[in-house]
Amino acid sequence: MKRFLAAVFCMALFCSLTGCKSTGESSVEFYAMDTTMNVTAYGTGAKSAVSETQAEVDRLEALLSRTRSDSEVSAINSGAADAPVAVSIETAGLLNAAWSYSHTTNGAFDITIAPVVSAWGFTTDHYQVPTQPALDALLNAVDYTGVLVEGISSSSARVTLRKGQAVDLGGIAKGYASDCVEAILSENGVERAMASLGGNIYVRGTKPDGSAWRVGVQDPDRSGGFVGVLSLSDAFAVTSGGYQRYFEQDGKRYHHIIDPATGYPAESGLTSVTIVADGNKTETPNIPGNGTMCDAFSTAMFVMGEEKAAEFWRSGAYNFQMVLVTEDGRVLVTDGLADKFEQEDGSGYAYETISRTPS
Ligand code: AMP
Ligand code: MG
Repeated sequence: MKRFLAAVFCMALFCSLTGCKSTGESSVEFYAMDTTMNVTAYGTGAKSAVSETQAEVDRLEALLSRTRSDSEVSAINSGAADAPVAVSIETAGLLNAAWSYSHTTNGAFDITIAPVVSAWGFTTDHYQVPTQPALDALLNAVDYTGVLVEGISSSSARVTLRKGQAVDLGGIAKGYASDCVEAILSENGVERAMASLGGNIYVRGTKPDGSAWRVGVQDPDRSGGFVGVLSLSDAFAVTSGGYQRYFEQDGKRYHHIIDPATGYPAESGLTSVTIVADGNKTETPNIPGNGTMCDAFSTAMFVMGEEKAAEFWRSGAYNFQMVLVTEDGRVLVTDGLADKFEQEDGSGYAYETISRTPS
């Protein structure tokens, strides 16, 4: 009996340490990619999936970080102009996806924005407003078409940049990490889970009680408040907003999403963009999927502004939905999300739907 009680006690202690509950819940919280991340999974395979997750995100950060001198992205950025730099197939594959999102958004998303982001101090936290001549000089090299990615289908992938160029995957890496987390959950046979990687959410299946996951869309003007809530299952939901990272100087706020056309923080009339797309459910690891797409488009639509974003969505070239929050107090929801979005009582935003045909 004593031994049985000791076993029960040990089990209870173990569960409180690992977070397992009667639903077979396992969760982990950690800091990576400059943000707090947490993953909670339920049922069979949850424990091993959760423990693999943190190692996977750490691996991706080591590969893709621009501020770590030993990353592949740093190797690319410190390579000589016009000289190919050998990289892994994985880094080349992500750069290739980033290139095509830069192309399809007509450069609103641009992976070569790196030197401009640095000039504002967002990579070092030593913030400053760059001079116009300094910005003009840097903008000369901002052009994703100068990035050459070769050899993805062979075992010798390489990336070549032009003079003055550097790449920044900050606008897409967390989305790619959420694709990789999704693949780990699939590999481990997990059916219900929720991952929050900074502003990048992935929900798998439903909550253990069978209801949809509730994903809050933060109010950009009210810390801790919500514009509304999305009820989602098997989906990625990625938010970009000027409120997520900024500094103030002489009474003006400067945020981290740069308009490649001006070199200044985008002033498109939007205060946040949330992009929603289907969860991948793939067991093929390390391939950019819808998490990556949502991350690229949340940044790009923020730069593009309400009208261009709506036009891009209406083109139907990509399968996604979105919630736009505007500076003048409106929340715009594409019609595919209308029955999944519930406005927060008293949030004060005027609700509008974006439909396939402009009104
Ligand atoms: P996100 O929070 O996903 O919108 O990404 C913002 C991050 O992406 C910034 O901190 C920069 O590292 C990078 N970034 C800023 N502006 C752009 C842009 N126009 N295109 C691509 N990446 C950008
Ligand atoms: Mg993004």
